[in-house]
Amino acid sequence: MEEEYPRSLMEFEKKFATEESCREYLFRMRWPEGFCCPRCGNPVFWTIGKVLIRCAACRHLTSVTAGTIFQDTHTPLTVWFRAIWWVTTQKNGASALGLQRILGLKSYETAWTWLHKFRRAMVRPGRELLSGRVEVDECYIGAPEEEMRGRGSADKALVVVAVEENGSAIGRIRFRLIPNASAATLNKFLLESIAPGSVVHTDGWRGYRRVTSCGFVHEVTVLKSKGEKASELLPRVHLVISLLKRWLMGTHQGAVSHKHLDYYLDEFTFRFNRRKSMNRGKLFYRLVQQAVAIEPVPLDKILHPEKKQARKLHGRKALTKVAGITLVSKPANAA
Ligand SMILES: [Zn+2]
Repeated sequence: MEEEYPRSLMEFEKKFATEESCREYLFRMRWPEGFCCPRCGNPVFWTIGKVLIRCAACRHLTSVTAGTIFQDTHTPLTVWFRAIWWVTTQKNGASALGLQRILGLKSYETAWTWLHKFRRAMVRPGRELLSGRVEVDECYIGAPEEEMRGRGSADKALVVVAVEENGSAIGRIRFRLIPNASAATLNKFLLESIAPGSVVHTDGWRGYRRVTSCGFVHEVTVLKSKGEKASELLPRVHLVISLLKRWLMGTHQGAVSHKHLDYYLDEFTFRFNRRKSMNRGKLFYRLVQQAVAIEPVPLDKILHPEKKQARKLHGRKALTKVAGITLVSKPANAA
């Protein structure tokens, strides 16, 4: 599918005025080559009413939203689309309160939950690793200041940051909330974020001593004099960290708890890595595309990301939910 997205608010309003137009767009995003049964892969299907889709081969019943972040929603897709448009076209994103106000949602919790669902969709499964020359360092993200006073680092979140060096500019970035700055923790992050053979540029911290054994070229820069600042050694990392802190304090007013911080880091990364997109509509396109590519996230998992939960099988919930409905089928094209 050619990248199909609205170029302006006017175009957006025209394109996504009805449930049908939103559902058709989701269909094209989810099945760009035409329908493919989530259970058996067969391309032929029947539609049942406006929403349900029945596989002509295995009789599996599904819908365009089943098995995506829109599964089981009671809110019209037109409202979801407006939320995604708002979130992606605002330069710094949106707070839950801002989203609640702009959409006129009754509950703050709904706005908050939606934003978290969007954040889950901001990481593309199988995204490419960083490569070339990459600066890496850790930083502390603090709790609200009055809470922090007189306490140790237990209240701060330790985050590791990787930033591609693109000449004197900045390429793509990756973050992760980490429990400590040990070699084991840092190496795991490096291996999962940076392509082998890349140059990993760090300071002299002992946690980075075994970087070479992980298959990277290690470049170490250490402070030469007392007057030199750490931020001068790895300038790109420190610029990104200051932008991140400004974003957390600005858009989110510092009200981000540690257990959710990873997902805010994902949102910041999504925005930052697309900061040069000529059209914000392209971010809308990417987010919708990824929203139909990931599995739905149960509310309990959003509220308590620290709890480990068994993942649901794709589409199973939708199947049990629609079982027992009297079905009137009509054939449809597989296109
Ligand atoms: Zn099937």
